[in-house]
Amino acid sequence: MKESIEERIDRLHAGGIVDFHFDLLIDLYEKRDRQGVLVSHFLPEFEAGDIGVLGVAIYVEDRYLPEMGLRVALDQVARLYAEVEQTKRFAVCKTFAEIEQARAANKIGLVITMEGVEPLGDDLNLLRAFYELGLRSVGLTHARRNAAGSGGIFKSSGSPHDGLTNFGRDVVRECERLGILIDLAHINPKGFEEIVELTSKPLIVSHSNARKFYDIERNISDEQIKIIGQRGGVVGVNAILVSRDAETSTLDRYLDHIEHVIGLIGIDGVGIGFDFCEYLFEQLPEKVRTELAAKLTAPHFISDLTNHSHARNLTRKLIKRGFSDEQIEKILQGNWMRVLKQML
Ligand SMILES: [Zn+2]
Repeated sequence: MKESIEERIDRLHAGGIVDFHFDLLIDLYEKRDRQGVLVSHFLPEFEAGDIGVLGVAIYVEDRYLPEMGLRVALDQVARLYAEVEQTKRFAVCKTFAEIEQARAANKIGLVITMEGVEPLGDDLNLLRAFYELGLRSVGLTHARRNAAGSGGIFKSSGSPHDGLTNFGRDVVRECERLGILIDLAHINPKGFEEIVELTSKPLIVSHSNARKFYDIERNISDEQIKIIGQRGGVVGVNAILVSRDAETSTLDRYLDHIEHVIGLIGIDGVGIGFDFCEYLFEQLPEKVRTELAAKLTAPHFISDLTNHSHARNLTRKLIKRGFSDEQIEKILQGNWMRVLKQML
């Protein structure tokens, strides 16, 4: 009997999809007076999309900085552990073996990441402390400047030209020593270049898009994509910055980004970094949303790829474009799993 497309998607999703950038911890923190948020607010969408592993980011919003940076970050991690403890469906994973154990027990594996090292201040010892708490991937900056370096701006030029600070270089070296992935999403072009020179292990870009389709310095150039490929890393394709215009912010354009990365560095270099945040955006007051749009950019959410329950739409589209089972498995999970196995 011929397998239907939906049956084929079931089979391709059986191992669980890996999405290496999700701003879960911000929301757990903001809802810290409630219990069971992970199960009530997130699990249904994760299950509908067959999510297997998530990179969940520590991120501290501007309004808490600088004084509250460390405190909020620790509270975010505390909320994660408290939430995970209340259910059998999740596990915080610090090693690749723990990811495999979680998957074998049908749990969603959560890997703690950090988007911007503001919580560290300029104290390298704190990186070690966060490592002990489970931190396994670090992006030095968000769009703003901090003690480590500067982020790329949401324009086609004009990011700060300075690279990493001494502290930023120390953080990079210590990450390589400890076995923390270095994430080049958001870093400015000069910082990107310096991190490449300083390191030798695989580098990742957890959530970004090709400047070919959306030319801003927050996204990555073809040259940068090639470097990630040469280093055996992965580019996670972002679902919220696929185009400058709302009309072309479509699932098809998301696939164009995937195909573009593959065209440059092959099937082994591309993964998923959805960065789904419409739910966060919608919780913001109108005034804050307008400010964010002015400071960064107005996000254009893809209507049929705005949350994890939509993952099947992506797989259906990959099938439609003629990708083989082996290729689809690499994009949805295999490539991230390879790097995680190598690094953790
Ligand atoms: Zn981001």
